[in-house]
Amino acid sequence: MNAVSVRVRLDITGVVQGVGFRPAVARIAAEFSLDGWVYNDAGSVHCEFEGPAADVEAAVSALQDRPPPMARIDTLAVTAVQTRGEAGFAIIASRTGDDGRTLVPPDIAICADCLREMRDPADRRYGHPFITCTNCGPRYTVITDLPYDRPATTMAGFPMCEPCAAEYRDPTDRRYHAQTIACPDCGPQLSSSLEDAADALLTGSVVAIKGIGGFHLACRADDAAAVARLRTRKNRPAKPFAMMVADLEAAREIAEIDDAAAAALTSPSAPIVLVPGKPRAVAEAVAPGLADLGVMLAYSPIHHLLFDRLGRIPLVMTSANQGGSPIVFRDEDLNWIDGLADAVLTHDRPIHVPCEDSVVTIDDEGGELPLRRSRGYAPLPVAVPVIDGEVILATGGDLKTTFCLMGADGHAHLSAHLGDMADPRTQHCFEAALDHLAFMTDQQPDVIACDMHPGYATTAWARRHAGGRPVVTVQHHHAHAVSLLADHGRLGTPIIAVAYDGTGYGLDGTVWGGELLAVSGAAEFTRVGHLAPFALPGGEGAVCQPARIALDLLFRAGIDWTPDLAPVAAVGQTGLHVLAQQIPRGVGCVPTTSMGRLFDAVASLLGVCQQVSYEGQAAVELEHLARRGRAVDFSAALNFVVDVGVMDPAPVIAGIVEGLRAGADPADLAAGFHQAVIRATATTARYCADAAGISVIGLTGGVFANRILLGGLRKSLTKGGYEVLSHRIVACNDGGLALGQATIAAARRVAASTPERNGACASESPAK
Ligand SMILES: [Zn+2]
Ligand SMILES: [Zn+2]
Repeated sequence: MNAVSVRVRLDITGVVQGVGFRPAVARIAAEFSLDGWVYNDAGSVHCEFEGPAADVEAAVSALQDRPPPMARIDTLAVTAVQTRGEAGFAIIASRTGDDGRTLVPPDIAICADCLREMRDPADRRYGHPFITCTNCGPRYTVITDLPYDRPATTMAGFPMCEPCAAEYRDPTDRRYHAQTIACPDCGPQLSSSLEDAADALLTGSVVAIKGIGGFHLACRADDAAAVARLRTRKNRPAKPFAMMVADLEAAREIAEIDDAAAAALTSPSAPIVLVPGKPRAVAEAVAPGLADLGVMLAYSPIHHLLFDRLGRIPLVMTSANQGGSPIVFRDEDLNWIDGLADAVLTHDRPIHVPCEDSVVTIDDEGGELPLRRSRGYAPLPVAVPVIDGEVILATGGDLKTTFCLMGADGHAHLSAHLGDMADPRTQHCFEAALDHLAFMTDQQPDVIACDMHPGYATTAWARRHAGGRPVVTVQHHHAHAVSLLADHGRLGTPIIAVAYDGTGYGLDGTVWGGELLAVSGAAEFTRVGHLAPFALPGGEGAVCQPARIALDLLFRAGIDWTPDLAPVAAVGQTGLHVLAQQIPRGVGCVPTTSMGRLFDAVASLLGVCQQVSYEGQAAVELEHLARRGRAVDFSAALNFVVDVGVMDPAPVIAGIVEGLRAGADPADLAAGFHQAVIRATATTARYCADAAGISVIGLTGGVFANRILLGGLRKSLTKGGYEVLSHRIVACNDGGLALGQATIAAARRVAASTPERNGACASESPAK
């Protein structure tokens, strides 16, 4: 008594090739005893299921609910078709077509099945450092060409042996059509033994280890001398090092790991997660002055094999590079890090494009807040509205450079983190990554978008390489705001964007960074609020010595530079002399409204940090100090003054000085400062939102890596009935800038080509 059969056709797009999609469909068909077939072409997977209606429906749901681990379904169209009555379910050989391109998957951490096999003495891949399957391993960093099959990967030089080839051909096998599989007989080889590397690490040496997206420099994180040696050699006095540990249990020994952090750590993307460190669990020099540690779990087979020899010992695992230069990913470039490592553990599987570790923090809602979107995420695109015709390249910021290639296919393709564009080697990597992504996505840019800053290397690059193509310049904080909207797929939503960061070129040529923008429609914005201007004495050089900024703020607040104040002591007698000439007259002083610089100045005032050696150092140290403080209430007479959207920091500066002189704990003052910023921002944002009839407030810019600020503002604004958006997919800092630039450029191109344009509200629209 069979139920009446139905037949449906499914057309599926997304990351659906090279990820075991067809075997997964076949398994689901078998589970529900359905007939039909599955095949893929260049861009999609197509299948048909036939059987009783309830079973067909259940199979479609099962496919949506549990696609293979590395797959991502972007669209799934279901169409009823004529039944055929064939018996069985078939996987049909790939059709090769040129139309449409599949999305390249990111590099995924080793899966549980491969890990088990690697540790099973009876398995033929026992101890194999390059074990992978359709569900795990490198993809983005090894794919060299299309169509994606073995000759089009850096595994081309390793022909499969017969047992591997048999697995590759077997539709029921976990390695069916997995292009990167190998075994000890046919796969890549390590350059030296794991025992030697483990012994070197155990005895305090620095070892360069080739991983998935490049080389790391590793040393014991519990060995103060080893960490100090690495700091001296890298010429990196304070910037925190990331660490790698064997597993979640080992992570819990050095840090407080809540459920959200555990989920991020063990996710297939395996990012570095910022988590509160336990006291004295690792050497102080790993993250000097900071309460958080950057921790990731072992993600490649090589890492696991090393930790099988090291146990619970935590390792510093920092990208093998010097300063802002790109990560070393080819053996022939190891001379870039000459003298940094005592030993090298490399292998002969080439890395085609570099990809550094991703970094996330856990926000107040328990979600991942991306700080660097790279390995495990890149090059997955962000869905954007389909625009007609033009492909837009956005070149991003100058530090943390990431570019965006936005096509007519409804995808904004984001590059991996590239680093500091001032380094010519980074520019070379930028061009190589662009060529690669343009080829893989079959999109050549017609338009180039870049920052307005005339001094940015990415802006100069855009002008140099335009070759007659239009160049669209975009204001920095406008790009942050629209990047946030695109992150949420909410481009049409009018918002007040609070864009707080260190430095962004303003429409008036000054340094912006404490901005409230009204944005409705991506193309334009209105600056509706900002921090009251203060000065960077000596220009951008003041960023390294925040005491100079603190002295300017003290001057503006009418407070004498007495020797009891930390910034006065920090600049010394000579410095004080020069600044006493400079500041009152504004000579050599660059005006700024930067929130990041205000945090730096307060850090100096509280004696937290007087010498900044990495971006954001003073501000992040201030946040970590504030976390253990009980907020002093500056609300009485010492709040920010809200006057038509301008927030004046003078009263809070005066309040901090008063507190210091009364002997208050700097941690309490730091916490009080955070609360004052939250209150002033919430008040100003509410004022601007209500004036414009807007109910959504966005929080964007690098300052929002500060969890006190993000959580406090969200709480305050949500309580007031506003919807609050913060970043989920792209970084809140300049790593997310390119997505906003591309989206704005697209909107402007559409607006320019539409004769009857809606009259946008009066705005400070940048003139080109
Ligand atoms: Zn696997
Ligand atoms: Zn083999």
